Amino acid sequence: MKWDVQKIKDIKQKEFGNFIEIDFSYNAQLYVLRINESDGTFIPAFAFHQGFDICNFCEGAGVYCSVLSKKRNEIFQHVVQENNIRFYWLYKEVKIQ
Ligand SMILES: [Zn+2]
Repeated sequence: MKWDVQKIKDIKQKEFGNFIEIDFSYNAQLYVLRINESDGTFIPAFAFHQGFDICNFCEGAGVYCSVLSKKRNEIFQHVVQENNIRFYWLYKEVKIQ
C-alpha cells in the first residue's frame, strides 16, 4: 500500500508514567505510536497494531509493525501537529533516532 502521512486520522494521545501512546488510524486500521520518555527527553520508539487481523503494510498479524516503526519519526512529526495535542508537544525535548 502506498504510504501518505496525510491519511493518518483519529489521532488521540494517552499519557502514562514514562511513555506516551498516540493512537491513530490509517485506512480504517488502528495503530499506536509508542514514545518513550527518559529524563525529560521523548524518543519515538516503535509502532504497533491494535486489534485487527492483517496489517496492510507489513502483512503481519503480530503486535509490532515493522513497516510503520521505520516511519516512526515521520509519523511523530505529523501527529503532534494535531490541534488537541500540539500544545503538549510545543516545548518538549524530542530526540529523533
Ligand atoms: Zn503492520
